[in-house]
Amino acid sequence: MIQFENVTKIYDGETTALENVSFHIEEGEFAFVIGPSGAGKSTVTKLITREELPTEGKIYVNGIDVAKLRRSKVPYLRRNIGIVFQDFRLLSQKTIKENIEFAMEVVGASPKEIKKTVPKLLTMIGLSSRANAYPDQLSGGEQQRVALARALANQPPVLIADEPTGNLDPKSSAEIIQLLNEINVQGTTVLVVTHDREIVNSLKKRVITISEGHIFSDEEKGEYHETPVI
Ligand code: ADP
Repeated sequence: MIQFENVTKIYDGETTALENVSFHIEEGEFAFVIGPSGAGKSTVTKLITREELPTEGKIYVNGIDVAKLRRSKVPYLRRNIGIVFQDFRLLSQKTIKENIEFAMEVVGASPKEIKKTVPKLLTMIGLSSRANAYPDQLSGGEQQRVALARALANQPPVLIADEPTGNLDPKSSAEIIQLLNEINVQGTTVLVVTHDREIVNSLKKRVITISEGHIFSDEEKGEYHETPVI
């Protein structure tokens, strides 16, 4: 589903962010990507979404050769990937229902489809009764649940969460991780970039640890560990 083959990324001809990195995340898998600041985690997500191109190596997402993709086809790639960020990134002038509807409108979903899907998503995140609230009327955890619903609105096969609990208290973090787990159980491939030791250790899922642009370890049912400072 997500495949990196000998991927190297050098920014501006001088900063090596990733060096000869290979991994394969299977369809339906749940994987954490962890590592210290500057290790190359964001570069991994930016290469998957083609915000950046690899300097060397191959990247495949849902069978798409990302680096070879023509610019005009990039929106097609992005429809295969739902993304959630640390800072939620909801539209503040729209209600939570409208935020989810809008994500579907921009990819051309029919009004009928939108009407059918949005209530289901609101139920999934437990916020049906707050459908007409604006983001700033919700707690951080609730906003992140809306961001998750929005990311899933167009049923992408892959969900990437970049520090999804970075701004949340432990209880809200646990709720978000529970939701991510449920989403994975329903069949979506989930990749979570995080610093959050608690959530990594609570789930016992695959843990890919990156350090200084290399894969330091890749463990099934892994735990959070510090990488040695070199
Ligand atoms: P992480 O997400 O693990 O903190 P990044 O992938 O953001 O790490 O960064 C890896 C390395 O690449 C760091 O040395 C960082 O300074 C560098 N880097 C990241 N983005 C850029 C960029 N756009 N231009 C130049 N260097 C960058």
